[in-house]
Amino acid sequence: MKAFVYKGPGKKALEDRPVPDVKAPTDATVKIIKTTICGTDLHILKGDVPTCTPGRILGHEGVGIVEKTGPGVTAFHQGDHVLISCISACGKCEYCRRGMYSHCTTGGWILGNTIDGTQAEYVRIPHADTSLYPIPPGADEEALVMLSDILPTGFECGVLNGRVEPGATVAIVGAGPIGLAALLTAQFYSPAEIIMIDLDDNRLEVARRFGATQTVNSKDGKAAEKVKALTAGRGADTAIEAVGLPATFLLCEDLVAPGGIIANVGVHGTKVDLHLERLWSENIAITTRLVDTVTTPMLLKTVQSKKIDPKLLITHRFKLDKILDAYETFGHGASTGALKVIIET
Ligand SMILES: [Zn+2]
Ligand SMILES: [Zn+2]
Repeated sequence: MKAFVYKGPGKKALEDRPVPDVKAPTDATVKIIKTTICGTDLHILKGDVPTCTPGRILGHEGVGIVEKTGPGVTAFHQGDHVLISCISACGKCEYCRRGMYSHCTTGGWILGNTIDGTQAEYVRIPHADTSLYPIPPGADEEALVMLSDILPTGFECGVLNGRVEPGATVAIVGAGPIGLAALLTAQFYSPAEIIMIDLDDNRLEVARRFGATQTVNSKDGKAAEKVKALTAGRGADTAIEAVGLPATFLLCEDLVAPGGIIANVGVHGTKVDLHLERLWSENIAITTRLVDTVTTPMLLKTVQSKKIDPKLLITHRFKLDKILDAYETFGHGASTGALKVIIET
């Protein structure tokens, strides 16, 4: 089968690999129909993710058809259409029993990280019963690819951790796919204002279409002042950090209102400055989290009922044998306008 393989920092290739088979009784193999590329895959290619070693097939998102199940799999059968979660969960360990699937002792984020992932014609899914979701008949499978990772990530790490409330002011720093996923799902709670902040005017324009009430270009370094001006000097009740850089986290520290929450979503590669000398008296909470994907079934219902349309995030489509082009397009979003790219097998 064709598979996209990480070959070490800065190196990647489309290779021929053997079709995976079930190993444990609770495994299933899935024939991939559609997958996508995540910002995290770009981090891996740069060499930022040491747990992912050269030779690994990347990808932790996708939809497909169950090809084969181990004898311990009871919820899925050959031919079932399934949504693959970016998080694998045994459902039995201490963390799983607390709903913290991201820290499953034999799962978590392993797909396309410590085991081979979904950017291939087939993938092996451990703990299949509790790591796959059935796709309802008639569902738009392309839209559901957005449910493997980015929608639950934006929602759980940004909106839920940020405790977005009716009438609140939300600032989202970073209008990439994750920031836009937070923007879409924040609207479940009817905040009064959602202020989107980015360096790229095109992405801010997209954010307006997705429901942002205000947009701020942070190029001039004055984004915090602008947010304060838009909020009668108060700042944002919820500041969602969806970039993962010291400067963008600092911006959240600068624009959060007293009593507010900084909800970090970004993947940080270096330390950031925490200005406790300013924040200690402001009743600020800071939250961090890996996505658990516990909200995936709920989000699936909201997509089915057209409360949200994650398909809006899809800008480009490629065949699997053109995945190197897909990486080029996705990796240069500022010039290509790419948000999420769909890879079809
Ligand atoms: Zn991801
Ligand atoms: Zn577990």
